[in-house]
Amino acid sequence: MPEIGRMKLFLFFSACLLLPVAETAGDASSRRHRLETKHTIIRYTSSKDLKKFSKKIDYTPGEWNLKSLFSPSGSSSPAESAARKVDALYERVQHILEMYGSMKEKVSIHIYPNKKGLHRAYFDITRRSCNVRSWYIYERNTVYVNVEDVNEGMLAHELAHAIIDHYLIVRPPRATAEILARYVDAHLNY
Ligand SMILES: [Zn+2]
Repeated sequence: MPEIGRMKLFLFFSACLLLPVAETAGDASSRRHRLETKHTIIRYTSSKDLKKFSKKIDYTPGEWNLKSLFSPSGSSSPAESAARKVDALYERVQHILEMYGSMKEKVSIHIYPNKKGLHRAYFDITRRSCNVRSWYIYERNTVYVNVEDVNEGMLAHELAHAIIDHYLIVRPPRATAEILARYVDAHLNY
């Protein structure tokens, strides 16, 4: 295939990856949306939530990013913006930990609209009441956050758990993983 044609095909498939699709989540009666990025699968309830999420993640990606690929003018949709920030954050965490490589299955990020939704999800999974602001479950390879409360440090911390737990052949003890994850959120901007 000629180089131009191949590039067009690449751009088409890349654009398809960023088109949010609605689906019914298994753990909730409401419809949730799915946005697949380079490293993650983001699930959220409404486009308003995705927009808010993107705003809350205050992280500027490096030189090469999806923004330059899709929006030469500098504007971008909430989906593009969220995908760009999350992938850049993921790669920053990998860099801090020096743990590179891709997972067999991308890490999921479940965004809940408020504390109540997050706590309900926690109870549905653990049958216990929730006393954390966000968390990661290895068995589901999923990060859970509340859009009203999330920030880039918190998301980086949970992504660090996902990366740490999948990088080593044997999962490290919880205390060791927690020390590493805290190191990541403390050094995000150094
Ligand atoms: Zn932690």
